Amino acid sequence: MSGREFSARVEAISISGIREVFEAAGEDAINLGLGQPDFPAPAHARQAAVEAIEAGKADAYTGNKGIEPLREAIAAKHERDQGVAVDPGDVIATAGGSEALHLAMEAHVDAGQEVIFPDPGFVSYDALTKVAGGTPKPVPLRDDLTLDPAAVEDAITDDTAMFVVNSPGNPTGAVSPEDDVREFARIADEHDVVCLSDEVYEPFVFEGDHHSPISYADTDSVVVVNGCSKTYSMTGWRLGWVTASTRRIERMLRVHQYIQACASAPAQYAAEAALTGPQGVVGEMRETFEERRNLLLDRFSEMGVEVPTPKGAFYAMPKVPEGFVDACIDRGVIVVPGEAFGDGGAGHARLSYANDTESLREALDVMEGVLADLR
Ligand code: PLP
Repeated sequence: MSGREFSARVEAISISGIREVFEAAGEDAINLGLGQPDFPAPAHARQAAVEAIEAGKADAYTGNKGIEPLREAIAAKHERDQGVAVDPGDVIATAGGSEALHLAMEAHVDAGQEVIFPDPGFVSYDALTKVAGGTPKPVPLRDDLTLDPAAVEDAITDDTAMFVVNSPGNPTGAVSPEDDVREFARIADEHDVVCLSDEVYEPFVFEGDHHSPISYADTDSVVVVNGCSKTYSMTGWRLGWVTASTRRIERMLRVHQYIQACASAPAQYAAEAALTGPQGVVGEMRETFEERRNLLLDRFSEMGVEVPTPKGAFYAMPKVPEGFVDACIDRGVIVVPGEAFGDGGAGHARLSYANDTESLREALDVMEGVLADLR
């Protein structure tokens, strides 16, 4: 009998620091910690799920990769937004972008291999690397919080399995410019490492356009993760996808079929409708996020707080004095300490402005008071 109760891989990870913050705050707190848009899911997406359920279409397992019309809609989206021809067979519908990230890690990372990702970066990159048995290799960001391709290239060793690009980024709101994205594509091609491009905030870009390495690299170099959670405000539906070359999809499918079998059938029908229906809701969300971002930047500038201008997503990372996060939480405003996203987040707080504008104004007033007291 083994004396060890749990795997070393699971002992290496812990419950996300973001959760701890929520649990510390009162019920009436204004929550600027949540990475969830404050909009309803599109009515036509909900309706499609209801119809699928009532027609009895959602009772059974779907194919492992997901229903064909959904994967066709995802392929059409790649063609429309990124100018790349994707075979619907090279897409797997997953339980959120989260499962897609997990599949990518499990299929590509061996014990002892390294995964390079942004620091500060989304919490799952570090944790899922460890779950796959790999070694996290966080790379510090530039002052404007974008990921420097030169820093990625310098971090690559013979043991590197993969590097992660996340633009627009969580927790930073940073958007990689086209030149950098072209560099990521070149690096993946030249060094024979996989570029995992996490594009779940794709439509929320306020200045310039979104660029994906998949538009510039060899088909086999890039694995794209995306989903409905952020784009269509459908976090609870748990529907994402992964797109990659045929052989990479085949390897990820091996894992997906055993851990998931298939994504939830009603959610797949809802996602198909979201992707093929009117896209106006997405533009409305982008405009609203941009207005709130501008409000936040104006107020922080008045307060004399330095904040790298977020060009996308719905996050900002102001530089804050010690004690700021705890004092905000004490006064009923939940913000997340930058360190929750890696050592590179130290000295920053992460705010999500996926909260109604009135609450955001109130929260900014509270922050102004906190700063006055701390100075
Ligand atoms: N990637 C990033 C950068 C995220 O911020 C999130 C959620 O916060 C995800 C992926 C996963 O989202 P979901 O599993 O809801 O698609």
